[in-house]
Amino acid sequence: MSDTEERPHAPLVCPPGPANDELLTLDASIQQLGSGLSVRRALPKRTLRTIGAWCFLDHFGPHQFSTPREAMYVGAHPHIGLQTVTWLTEGEVLHRDSLGTVATIEAGGLNVMTSGRGIAHTEETPNDNAGVLHGLQLWLALPERRREMDPAFEHVFELPVWRDGAAEATLFIGDAFGLSAGATIHSPLMGAELRVPAGRTTLPVTPEFEHGLLVMEGSIRVDDRPLEVGQLGYLSRGRRSVCIEAEAPARLGMIGGEPYTDPLLMWWNFVGGSYDEIHEARRAWLAGERFGAVHGFDGPALGVPDLLLSRR
Ligand code: MN
Repeated sequence: MSDTEERPHAPLVCPPGPANDELLTLDASIQQLGSGLSVRRALPKRTLRTIGAWCFLDHFGPHQFSTPREAMYVGAHPHIGLQTVTWLTEGEVLHRDSLGTVATIEAGGLNVMTSGRGIAHTEETPNDNAGVLHGLQLWLALPERRREMDPAFEHVFELPVWRDGAAEATLFIGDAFGLSAGATIHSPLMGAELRVPAGRTTLPVTPEFEHGLLVMEGSIRVDDRPLEVGQLGYLSRGRRSVCIEAEAPARLGMIGGEPYTDPLLMWWNFVGGSYDEIHEARRAWLAGERFGAVHGFDGPALGVPDLLLSRR
């Protein structure tokens, strides 16, 4: 996945999230990927840049299609300073990267790509597909001390599940509910898919974490406030539980973590700590340096927007 907004834009400088005891509700914006797949972008927002180290959250689908190119079709593009985390509830995505990885992710498995100082990748719906795509793609900002680490790719198949009655949470990354997931992370955080039945579910949460809840199917109430598909609910630190009410079964994405406090600039597909890092990464990609090549994708690389802002 990529930030494919074509308009030139300035790096986002990212302050910490707001302190708020109650659920804060934010509307996702609709973004069109090149293929025609539209995504609901819940992070970053002007009023909320990060939740823990999570700095980007796209929810796509359920999207029905007849040919693969009407679904995921994202040409080569670079990343620095982040991990991409891909979680599907339906469908498949074929990932290729400049490390030589070729991996198809399916529902119930997790892809984590660590860019470190630089990686390039493509993502596409494979020819052999279910005709529907539904999932999340998220970015984690690496802490400043890890931004220059080697790139890496992990595909995790075995994930722990928390259960309470008919409620279930698949922990796809990090630590929560007394469980640990297997993917490599670089700051205290969690990411899970929740499936709640009709009625009330009380979910234990880590008090040191701020959290975000994103409705993927159905509608719920949190703190007696409604939360629907296309909305992100933000909960600040200090909680030990979250009460979720639903009139019908619902599916949610849940993210959390200790607030991210390192300098953070986001521009296009780059996460950095300074303008110079972003500028140098853009120059290197355009010059064919540093990131390596992705082989096997039938299509052009993504266009690179202008970087208009002067150094500050
Ligand atoms: Mn990407």
